[in-house]
Amino acid sequence: MSKGNINISTENIFPIIKKFLYSDHEIFLRELVSNATDATLKLKHLFSIGEAKGDYGTPQIEIKIDKKKKTLHIIDQGIGMTKDEVEKYINEIAFSGAEEFVEKYKDKIEDSGIIGHFGLGFYSSFMVADNVQILTKSYKKGSQAVKWECDGSPAYTIENIDKKERGTEIILHISKEEKAFLEENKINELLTKYNRFMPIPIKHGTREETETIGEGDDAKEKKTTVDNIINNPTPAWTKKPADLKPEDYKSFYRELYPMQFEEPLFNIHLNVDYPFNLTGILYFPRITKNMEIQKDRIQLYQNQVFVTDNVEGIVPDFLQMLRGVIDSPDIPLNVSRSYLQSDGAVKKISGYITKKVADKLNSIFKKDRKDFESKWEDIKLIIEYGMLSEDKFFEKAQKFAMYPVVDGANYTLKELKEKIKDTQTDKDDNLIVLYTSDKDKQHSYIETAQAKGYDVVLLDSPIVPHLIQKLETENEKVKFTRVDADFIDNLINKDDTKISKLSDEEKTKLEEIVKGIVPGATYTVQMEALDSAENPFIITQPEFMRRYKEMSQTGGGMMGMGEMPEMYNLIVNSNHSLMDKILKAKKNKEKYVNQALDLAKLSQNLLTGKEMTAFIKRSFELMK
Ligand code: ADP
Repeated sequence: MSKGNINISTENIFPIIKKFLYSDHEIFLRELVSNATDATLKLKHLFSIGEAKGDYGTPQIEIKIDKKKKTLHIIDQGIGMTKDEVEKYINEIAFSGAEEFVEKYKDKIEDSGIIGHFGLGFYSSFMVADNVQILTKSYKKGSQAVKWECDGSPAYTIENIDKKERGTEIILHISKEEKAFLEENKINELLTKYNRFMPIPIKHGTREETETIGEGDDAKEKKTTVDNIINNPTPAWTKKPADLKPEDYKSFYRELYPMQFEEPLFNIHLNVDYPFNLTGILYFPRITKNMEIQKDRIQLYQNQVFVTDNVEGIVPDFLQMLRGVIDSPDIPLNVSRSYLQSDGAVKKISGYITKKVADKLNSIFKKDRKDFESKWEDIKLIIEYGMLSEDKFFEKAQKFAMYPVVDGANYTLKELKEKIKDTQTDKDDNLIVLYTSDKDKQHSYIETAQAKGYDVVLLDSPIVPHLIQKLETENEKVKFTRVDADFIDNLINKDDTKISKLSDEEKTKLEEIVKGIVPGATYTVQMEALDSAENPFIITQPEFMRRYKEMSQTGGGMMGMGEMPEMYNLIVNSNHSLMDKILKAKKNKEKYVNQALDLAKLSQNLLTGKEMTAFIKRSFELMK
């Protein structure tokens, strides 16, 4: 046996490792299984180039718990190490990695995000173990197996042992405080979290498999004990898109999110090797209004090792509602999020993903427009959000973003503009796009517009006020206005001359009466000579005011406008026969005005509580 001291400048490095990695102790297992995987893949490579001779076999990695001895074992059949290699890789190189880590991050204990992503490698085992042993035998012919042991002080021992099989066994003597890592369930949970898709089969215990032998009455059940392999070494994203059928993508989705019962709408297979390496599969889920706050998120892997499900900065914001997997060795993980966002390679990755998603949407749209339209309702929030936040996506989305007309077809903006240009152009040559945010609440306004032969587009996502603001900037002479923003002939003003039935004198008198009765703080009275068939009173809310208010409520726009009181316009149709009645009435003036006002409120869903009760009472009285 020989003894030595680990090449060290910081005497108390082990306590520091323990303390620094406080919040993320569990990653030791990921690190050790990754090392075991690397060692196996290296051996595979050596066999493939003829460097290693003999039988490669079907190597697997085994994770074992010995409850009595309080040890956790990570066993591989990889390349193993000679004594010299242990000296070099474990005592010198690996340790200097750990040392560098501590140097670099000792001021940043709080930033556990950084720590969790730093590949501390082998030495992370000291976070959970009092004593660590490495039993290893190199693949090289005639190698002497060795055992390295270290108890968490800088001193280690190394000695020859009798180990027959090629490969490495790491034995962790789990410390008292960390005894949770001696529980099968805990280890199972960690293996499932980090190693579920690693490329080498990982065995953890055994399980019973039942097989039916024979048929009919002779059928017998045969139980066999088989290795419990916890991972799928060849997950869908590592395969070529050409080798996958639609069903394979769906079953991978179920594998990824076992608790998710809804099927995804469609998937996007990512695959680039220049200027960066990235593979993955993204899924568009059905977006429901009360979707559980992102429990099933996109998972980030590095060479099939799970890293995180926080892909902020790597995937553009608007695509974070997607699900699936991204695997890239080129994403720097040992850095902070803010650094990540400014990293050139990462920016390129984010741009690539955006482009891929847009291209896929476009190809579905082109291939099967009906299918795309049927999914629009479920995907529009993501697309509209993308149009708002990424200019590149906005450009591409012009081709497939849908503008569905109430009781009509779906159009692209270009098609819609073409369709309405003859009917909905006003006297100043503006093309007016009428829209509704709620078919039911704005029903009477929609009907009035449709009666004039106009189309009303349904735009009901919460971000619509922001989106149409952008659409107006990008499309000169196109104005969006909600159907209830004014009376229809004012929304699309064609400068028709209006003939008033009332004299100017009568009009002034009527205006005075109405102003004296309706609350001036809420309603601005607007006298208009409309068609006598139009309603006598119409409540509207000017587009500009309402839009900015909504924008500030959903973030952005003008600050503070969200708290402004509701203000409306009250359009009085002076050509309606009711006006005559109001002018001539002796004692019922107030009753008529209030009744007409309440009916106008009712059609805007503004009548509630005390006012509703008063309205009902008054309505019955008027019927007498
Ligand atoms: P890293 O894996 O980042 O290189 P580690 O500290 O995890 O750093 O490991 C240091 C080195 O020790 C590895 O590069 C490898 O050469 C060797 N090593 C670790 N684990 C094994 C193993 N299971 N089999 C063979 N070699 C190993």
